[in-house]
Amino acid sequence: MSIEPLPLDGVVQYPPETVAEYLDKGYWRDQTLSELLFATARQHPDKTAVIDRDRQLTYAQLTDEILRLAAGLQQLGLRRGDRVVVHLPNTYEYIVFVFAFWELGVVPVVAPIAHRRTEIEHFVRIAQARVYITVASDSGTDLAAMAADLKQRWSHLEHTVILDQGGGGAEYQALLSRGTLEHARRCSPQDVALLQISGGTTGVPKLMPHTHQTYGYALRRSVGERGIVFRTIHLLVIPICHSMSTRSPGFLGAFSVGATIVIAPNGSPDTAFPLIEKHRVNRVSLVPPILLAWLNSSLRKSSDLSSLEVIMCGGAKLTETVAARVEPEFGVQLSQSFGMGEGLVVSNPADVDRATSVRYQGRPASEADEIRVVDDEGNDVPPGVAGHLLTRGPSVILGYYRNPEQNALAFTPDGFYRTGDIVERDHRGFIRVVGRSKDQINRGGEKIAPEELENAILAHAGVHNASAIGVDDEILGERVKVYLIPRSPQSASDLTLGKVRQFLRESGLATFKLPDVVEVVDEFPYTAVGKVSKRLQREQN
Ligand code: AMP
Repeated sequence: MSIEPLPLDGVVQYPPETVAEYLDKGYWRDQTLSELLFATARQHPDKTAVIDRDRQLTYAQLTDEILRLAAGLQQLGLRRGDRVVVHLPNTYEYIVFVFAFWELGVVPVVAPIAHRRTEIEHFVRIAQARVYITVASDSGTDLAAMAADLKQRWSHLEHTVILDQGGGGAEYQALLSRGTLEHARRCSPQDVALLQISGGTTGVPKLMPHTHQTYGYALRRSVGERGIVFRTIHLLVIPICHSMSTRSPGFLGAFSVGATIVIAPNGSPDTAFPLIEKHRVNRVSLVPPILLAWLNSSLRKSSDLSSLEVIMCGGAKLTETVAARVEPEFGVQLSQSFGMGEGLVVSNPADVDRATSVRYQGRPASEADEIRVVDDEGNDVPPGVAGHLLTRGPSVILGYYRNPEQNALAFTPDGFYRTGDIVERDHRGFIRVVGRSKDQINRGGEKIAPEELENAILAHAGVHNASAIGVDDEILGERVKVYLIPRSPQSASDLTLGKVRQFLRESGLATFKLPDVVEVVDEFPYTAVGKVSKRLQREQN
């Protein structure tokens, strides 16, 4: 059945000729993400789809639970095109919620559980969310109280759904108990499927509108390139809403081929190793600091990790020294990737030689993934020369949600996304990330916008000025350092690391954005045009 697309206000649309070309060439398909899962469930109803805590669901059980949840959510009054905020830890309920929303054509904003009031309220407001879904508490923060408060403040936020701390609970069960729906097409594959959170270079996080088709294309490429097959048992440790957990290849990639997902609450060896051993996991996606923790863990000797075949790693720079240790020490294949929530993901194909797999992050899987490497003036540079990476293609958005100012800066007029990454491409098309031009801190894969952190600190009565930078860290790649100029000599004593972190935590900023180091100074270095010179500040470290 064909349903006309429903353009969302504030989303930059693909030109009709691009839509026609991508459909014609098969990059985009006439399939929603919900249909993708139900197609697999029809073929393999009794195969295990997902394992989480003490729950193990077959494809038939998973789709049954999705349809029951969809019925419950529909009875809350949700309609196609409505927005909701989903803020859950790594649990199978996250998967049930997003598919229930895709079944209804509702658009979830998917936020990592580490986010706090500052971020969540921004998403609720900008998306005019009608429902907010979270757990009772996380790491000591009372999210239920926060949810109640947000509901009072924002009249469009009609409902909150609070799961127990580890998932499940009475409110979830109540939603499941209101009957069921028939699986049917209720939205167009061209509709926005979800609003993902951008890594951030600006004062507030941006939202990336992905359609069922941009995601569908990305996951098919990723599954093909990374060799995800029916017998794959994939351990998911990265926050579940991140594209590495969702579509690169993530649970969507696994579900497209009837594979199994094992969900871990986090990637620490004492959590992940027993799961690998128990469920005979053969693949995992990691960020570099977790990979390093695995390599250096004393638990390796006492754990049976022999089922592991491939470790995928991306999200931040993996040093060549660490990359070179993976295959000899773990006896598994290393598969690096490099990509971004905005769309493009490149990875090293399974049959690549070892030198390439250690040094390069990958190459695009399709000629449709357009890549340009340009100099400061925007001229293309030859292979082997570093330049700014621009990209466009069937997985790449054309703009952020309701954000024309940022879109004018981050996208070229002909639709290329300016990634802010400096890369070098070899004559075969393999890409190596060599630096970054955007003002962003990458703390072991968690992206922090210095401007957002600085704004939050400037609300402190004792702070005259603040400048946040990333400084080198052996494990995280970068950690967060903040230079502070106090308002008065007396206020300097209030600006210790502990007190500044406490202030930011209370102001509702996500925990991973809090500084690791604070230094009080009298003055910042300035550039010739009078801007704070972060380059000079970085050089001091
Ligand atoms: P996100 O949208 O959170 O996936 O962040 C995307 C950004 O993470 C990219 O634009 C890069 O700056 C960085 N990134 C991702 N993968 C890698 C990698 N393998 N090496 C270096 N940087 C990476």
